[in-house]
Amino acid sequence: MLERKTVFPNVIELNFQAGHVIGCNVYLVFDSEEWILIDIGYEESVEEIVELIRELDFPLSKCKTLVATHADVDHGQGLALAKRLLKTTVSAHPKAAKLLAAGDKLRTFAEIEAQNIHLEMPSVETEFIIDEGASIEVGNLSLEVWSTPGHADSQLAFRLGDLLFSGDNIYRDGCVGAIDAHHGSDIPNFIRSLQRIRNSDVKWLLPSHGPIFRKDSEMLDRTIERLTGYLHMADFGTCAVDWPLMDEWEEEIADGKLPE
Ligand SMILES: [Zn+2]
Repeated sequence: MLERKTVFPNVIELNFQAGHVIGCNVYLVFDSEEWILIDIGYEESVEEIVELIRELDFPLSKCKTLVATHADVDHGQGLALAKRLLKTTVSAHPKAAKLLAAGDKLRTFAEIEAQNIHLEMPSVETEFIIDEGASIEVGNLSLEVWSTPGHADSQLAFRLGDLLFSGDNIYRDGCVGAIDAHHGSDIPNFIRSLQRIRNSDVKWLLPSHGPIFRKDSEMLDRTIERLTGYLHMADFGTCAVDWPLMDEWEEEIADGKLPE
């Protein structure tokens, strides 16, 4: 049996547990024998993850559910296989459930033709549809479900006491999950989700990529300010709400203004 390297009481992160990077962060939340996983990652890592969980002496039959923070390929490609191996269920936001059932490659970033990225996205059914206000019970623990759209319209976060499993909302360096119109990203919603996290009294953010970190309101303010700028910039195309340069241009054309 391996020694459990809990990052917080009742929480293990499986990359940290393994001592090497497996993929996206995979959180195992447990209470006595019952446990859940928050995200699973790519299919190729599933067997290593299941073996690790076995060595940590968690009964494989006690996996209550596999929770998807959203449907992206790097978080959910392994769901179908893990569900089969563990004989368990999947919990996801209604919009993620739709993409997972369809095995949608475009909206999950499995297929990015312009970058020669062609990944499989095995279809998987969701047994438990979860959304804002729902809770996930694990033993005597209760995780509160937050809908935090922005990176994806199905992005969820999960609160457990002082901890927020924050998905792709924010990383330690102030970066955020990719903003991409094809992916259902929405900058005004993203800003609202970040403000909610900023204004909450959670102490720790447990992101889906990179290290766990203490919630830092100043860092969140800087990120919110950056995204607020994007609202009026061309950088993210149709994700902007306007582009003031176009108004200036219109006036300058009408005035016949020459370059200066
Ligand atoms: Zn991600």
